[in-house]
Amino acid sequence: MAIKVGVVGYGTIGKRVADAVAMQKDMKLAGVTAHSYSFNTEVAKQKGYKIFTTGEDDLKLNGIAPDGSINHLLDEVDVIVDATPKDIGRDNIEKLYKPRKIKAIVQGGEKHKTTGTSFVAQCNYDEALGKDYVRIVSCNTTGLCRTLDAVNKKYGIQSVHATMIRRGADPGDIHHGPINAIVPVLEMPSHHGPDVQTVLHNVEIFTTALSVPSTLMHLHTLTVDIKKKATVEEVVELFKNSTRIRIVRNAEHLRSTAEIIEFARDLGRLRGDMPEICVWQEAIGVISNAHNKLLYMQAVHQESDVVPENIDAIRAMTGFKDAQKSIEMTNECFGIK
Ligand code: NAD
Repeated sequence: MAIKVGVVGYGTIGKRVADAVAMQKDMKLAGVTAHSYSFNTEVAKQKGYKIFTTGEDDLKLNGIAPDGSINHLLDEVDVIVDATPKDIGRDNIEKLYKPRKIKAIVQGGEKHKTTGTSFVAQCNYDEALGKDYVRIVSCNTTGLCRTLDAVNKKYGIQSVHATMIRRGADPGDIHHGPINAIVPVLEMPSHHGPDVQTVLHNVEIFTTALSVPSTLMHLHTLTVDIKKKATVEEVVELFKNSTRIRIVRNAEHLRSTAEIIEFARDLGRLRGDMPEICVWQEAIGVISNAHNKLLYMQAVHQESDVVPENIDAIRAMTGFKDAQKSIEMTNECFGIK
């Protein structure tokens, strides 16, 4: 029987998760919520999604008849994916999902302690098996975990230093972002390092971060002290053979985040999304002397890399044990090879 899924918070992440759920053969999208009327609601209606209200009832004024309140949606689901802004997911677990014994996934704006389980499918799928509440880590943490997990499994990691050069705002966001500044995160480490350890528990990592005036992707630079000697060719093969990681090359003219997003559009990806973490082949380097170091740069599409993770978490929480199979099923609908 299909897993019945509802999406609460139909914004940047929620609308992508809703579309992904609707594409899974083993899931049924029970509906999405509208906090207030917007173009998102119009698109959801056009797609035939049921719409349930959580806020101002201005839908009817704008010609959309809602299918009920959020309570009606909660009556119809096995799992809720909550993609509301920071802290609301935490409150919703206590107020809405726990009293009704509904399993729920929250996003990276929430703290690890909200669920006690933080998730990146290829790293720790089994930790979410049968769980009632799971947190999908942030876009940056997802990107760090995917590539570091591959490196850790092959070479063993002594320690990591990573710097996150973050996009100032999402493309549709008119409220945030530096316009003419580079804004450093003035705390050491930035929150990303400790967040990686909620998934990769034994990896020693220190992170720093800054924001720049761009909307397209984040860019990470990593220096990894590894336990064994590596070659660049080996690392390229490692990333090529790791799921949800894509090697991109100067030779393809994929030299920037802008060109990667243009590539995703040309591939015909829904919304021009690039859920894979893109590692530049020419920016992989190794230093082999007394200490073995691996250096690389990667781009992270903040709006989409966490979306496949939500789908795999739904399966894990509802008892689907085969991580590899779940990842394959999810990848297929995103066109990830
Ligand atoms: P968003 O602002 O784009 O969307 C949030 C949606 O929730 C909006 O549609 C809003 O109307 C709705 N909403 C607000 N209050 C609500 C309430 N009380 N009940 C129901 N719906 C409500 O936000 P987003 O960027 O999609 O972020 C959602 C979560 O995903 C956050 O935890 C964020 O940290 C995380 N996240 C965001 C990104 C990103 O780059 N945008 C990446 C990874 C993770």
